[in-house]
Amino acid sequence: MLLEFIGADHEVTGSCHYLNVNGKNILVDYGMEQGRKLYENADLPVPASDIDYILLTHAHIDHAGLLPLAYKKGFRGQIYATNATAKLCNIMLRDSAHIQTFEAEWRNRKARRNANIDTYVPLYTMEDADGAIRLLHPVNYKDMVHIADGIDARFTDVGHLLGSAAIELFLTEDGVSKKIVFSGDVGNIDQPIIKDPEPVDGADYLLIESTYGDRLHSDTKPDHVKELSEVLKRTFERGGNVVIPSFAVGRTQELLYFIREIKEQGLVGGFEDFPVYVDSPLAVDATSIFGKSSLECYDEEATALLNRGINPLSFTNLNLSITPDDSKNINFDDEPKVIISASGMCDAGRIRHHLKHNLWRKESTVLFVGYQSVGTLGRALIEGAKTVKLFGEEISVNAEIGFMTGLSGHADRQGLINWLKAGFDPEKTKRVFVVHGDDQVTDRFAEFINKEYGYTAYAPFSGTRFDLIKNEFVTETKGVAVVRKTVVHSRISTVFERLLSAGERLMGVIRKYEHGANKDIARFADQINALSDKWEK
Ligand SMILES: [Zn+2]
Ligand SMILES: [Zn+2]
Repeated sequence: MLLEFIGADHEVTGSCHYLNVNGKNILVDYGMEQGRKLYENADLPVPASDIDYILLTHAHIDHAGLLPLAYKKGFRGQIYATNATAKLCNIMLRDSAHIQTFEAEWRNRKARRNANIDTYVPLYTMEDADGAIRLLHPVNYKDMVHIADGIDARFTDVGHLLGSAAIELFLTEDGVSKKIVFSGDVGNIDQPIIKDPEPVDGADYLLIESTYGDRLHSDTKPDHVKELSEVLKRTFERGGNVVIPSFAVGRTQELLYFIREIKEQGLVGGFEDFPVYVDSPLAVDATSIFGKSSLECYDEEATALLNRGINPLSFTNLNLSITPDDSKNINFDDEPKVIISASGMCDAGRIRHHLKHNLWRKESTVLFVGYQSVGTLGRALIEGAKTVKLFGEEISVNAEIGFMTGLSGHADRQGLINWLKAGFDPEKTKRVFVVHGDDQVTDRFAEFINKEYGYTAYAPFSGTRFDLIKNEFVTETKGVAVVRKTVVHSRISTVFERLLSAGERLMGVIRKYEHGANKDIARFADQINALSDKWEK
């Protein structure tokens, strides 16, 4: 009974964990790495075609984004996920495949322009996404799901995203039973629409996320409805638009929930019937999933609305299903309006058109509602850029730039502790593995729950293997740091610096194979030696 850590170890994205039980190969999550990478992920210990089952905590791309790749590489087993997660995967994996193929086409066009014949193959295609979607096996929360001999699972709502779950796995091998829990991403309390995280019922082992394992959200409960209505009112009074860059799944639906309430309470006097445009096909699809199918995920407040016959995500003058042509026309009338569009960090998508039409207008507001990574257009705007470049044009930033605080899909340190203490007794749970956090955050959170609450906690690196029956490490790795491929400009670097950088890169590649040496690697070693022989002369 073996557990191997593959991804989101000392990192936030790319969640993936491998289990071997009774000869079956199981993955819990198979997510894509996004943004800045710190460590290389270990390869799967078996080919994807030998994986029997994948269990999915939720539909975010950093947990589910490689399912189509597994299909492409021959995986044909079942993917277990909650009903809402399965429905969200249906649209999100297709959207991801669309992005992959679009990016490949773009790169190939660029390569052709540079008379470079390299062809770039997309990570996966729409057929692969459709293939993975066909393997989804939806389950109800709280049902005991029999997967195979000695392998049963139960999904519990952890209030992070519609359908999100912690997974309890009940495992028996050679007459010995162990229970292991994967927290998935643990939600924040008081998120609109969805429930607060529910505790689970103990385990021998726990893997817990730690995204905000060193942070505390504000004590005062933010009043999002009031904050948003004030921004709308002052912008509309100036005659401008409120443009909101937003993630299509989750955050957009929260905004609609707030706006419905603003309209119901008449909080924007003088503009009661203001139009709202959701200009993102993915957001529109996701909104319909939030609407019809997902009562089991709704919190009390949202359920009460539904019982009164009110759709919590709908109101008058809400405009969905917008064609690309409509999208361009949204900005060509003077009526003040709200435009919600993706991407959330402004680095791609239709939002860029709306920014082009509104950033130069001092009447308008661009309102950020989520974290903006370093290097994105969104980050430049909140840091006060005076001009930005959009579609090759220099645009002056005259609009009000706003930021709505306190919206978070993740529990803070106290939220994680509350969830941990409600389900796990430090005397009974043999080990807590801390994953899904930034490099030092995982270590700090492990140390914190160890010192303050007495858990035996540890933050593993990718490639670490653990025997669940013997309660001991089989291999413990230190992680292979990602070596940045620095673009070397000959003008600014000496020839020797170029050589040094090439050498450092080679070391990075070598370290990557520390635990996976095989015939090919032996050949690689021979090649390096031959090359060294040649240049030593
Ligand atoms: Zn997530
Ligand atoms: Zn995550």
